[in-house]
Amino acid sequence: MERVVAKQYDLIIGGERVATSEHFEIRDPGTGDVVGLCPVATKEDLDRAVASAREAYRTWSRSGDQERKEAVDRIADSIHANMEELAQLLTLEQGKPLNGLGSRFELHGAEAWARHTGTLDLPVEVLHDDETGRVELHRKPLGVVGSITPWNFPILIAIWHVVPAIRAGNTVVIKPSPYTPLSTIRMVEILNDVLPEGILNVVAGRDDLGQMMTSHPDIQKIVFTGSCATGRKVMQSASETLKRVTLELGGNDAGIVLPDADPKAIAERLFWGAFINNGQTCAALKRLYVPGNIYDELCEALVDYAGTVRVGHGLDEGSILGPIQNRMQYDKVVDLVEDAKRSGARILCGGKASEGPGYFYPVTIVADATDGMRIVDEEQFGPVLPIIRYTDLEDAIEQANGLDVGLGGSAWSSDVDKAKAVAARLECGTAWVNNHGAIKPFAPFGGVKGSGLGVEFGDLGLKEYTSVQVVHQ
Ligand code: NDP
Repeated sequence: MERVVAKQYDLIIGGERVATSEHFEIRDPGTGDVVGLCPVATKEDLDRAVASAREAYRTWSRSGDQERKEAVDRIADSIHANMEELAQLLTLEQGKPLNGLGSRFELHGAEAWARHTGTLDLPVEVLHDDETGRVELHRKPLGVVGSITPWNFPILIAIWHVVPAIRAGNTVVIKPSPYTPLSTIRMVEILNDVLPEGILNVVAGRDDLGQMMTSHPDIQKIVFTGSCATGRKVMQSASETLKRVTLELGGNDAGIVLPDADPKAIAERLFWGAFINNGQTCAALKRLYVPGNIYDELCEALVDYAGTVRVGHGLDEGSILGPIQNRMQYDKVVDLVEDAKRSGARILCGGKASEGPGYFYPVTIVADATDGMRIVDEEQFGPVLPIIRYTDLEDAIEQANGLDVGLGGSAWSSDVDKAKAVAARLECGTAWVNNHGAIKPFAPFGGVKGSGLGVEFGDLGLKEYTSVQVVHQ
């Protein structure tokens, strides 16, 4: 039988494909089959990409607002035109299904975010203007932005980093996660057809490449989405050259259900708050606090809903959830669930690793979880929701705020004002009422405490890609 040779991907530097001498295999997390070969960039390749972005910056930083907005619109158009190809590749390497809140949803999000960012303005602010003089505040680009992205939403997060950077007049070198590099590489290749040469470059490779970027003297800002531990390393390394940083890190979002909530009415929204992208979402619901009067009823409603969700290979049009993306994450999920069992928690559904092939793990709902169990205190980042019983609302709020992270949080009640009052007391960057995880391109998003630094999206997010220059006249 003829051997199928996996497609080899190249770096994109200065608008050109650049072949590397080394590659590694990217495998479909649903089957283990090879999807393609990822290039391994060397230090010299990174230097070349940064030099190309630096050269392009000379012109791009002097472009006008209209030109930048048109470029961003072309990015949105191009994503739209290539949506299905990118969605298929994303599913193959990431595992998420084409349907449900999967790849096509992610691509639509990428287009919507790009489209909105193209409408944002960076007007000159007049701080003072009278007969004694005039003081203006201008927003200027920073230079070369280094973008480091994770494996959970490779396309959408890339767009969140790249588009505001370009809109503000910067140029970019992006480095996707080594688990899911191919869809980003292909997207950058496609986008280079509609962008000026050198303003968007992609490098990929092994684990030392991110560190090389965070210490690179010619990169002026790092935007990083990933784990808290790595975020701290990024900041430390970036401090040597005083780079600006935006860090969007992990969380361990709590949801608090109030005693008057209607379990059946909220079960579906709670479920997707927790299980979107198989729980591999920074701001997914990861701990649910429920009062005793509705505890059993809510657990039952969640288990019933879970039974309707089809898990399968992402390319199967009927699948709504796919496999976990990688072995490291799969092992972590298995370990946390086994630890919960040993600690006395009750597994209401799932909880048993599949035999493979692929990193499939069933939707798992864990009852009788308590603070202090690893499944509650650690970010599971997988298809598992621990449910904690509470008797006193004040205790539940304290427990929800008891960790050193604070990305999102939610409160659930039949009385919106009551839920709002609880949501306001959660220590997190985004608080939701009767919802968890909804985000909008105009609403700033970021974490407090150990969940990050700075915000993305909207006017505030765009300003993070600028420096201030005050002009006195
Ligand atoms: P990491 O945070 O380690 O990786 C995210 C990105 O950072 C990758 O592109 C990675 O590439 C890069 N990176 C790693 N180390 C450095 C470094 N020292 N300097 C610069 N860049 C670096 O996440 P993992 O993939 O290891 O996942 C671990 C955990 O992170 C998960 O279990 C989950 O809890 C959390 N996570 C959170 C995400 C979020 O959206 N907030 C997304 C993904 C994971 P490379 O390895 O090539 O350096």
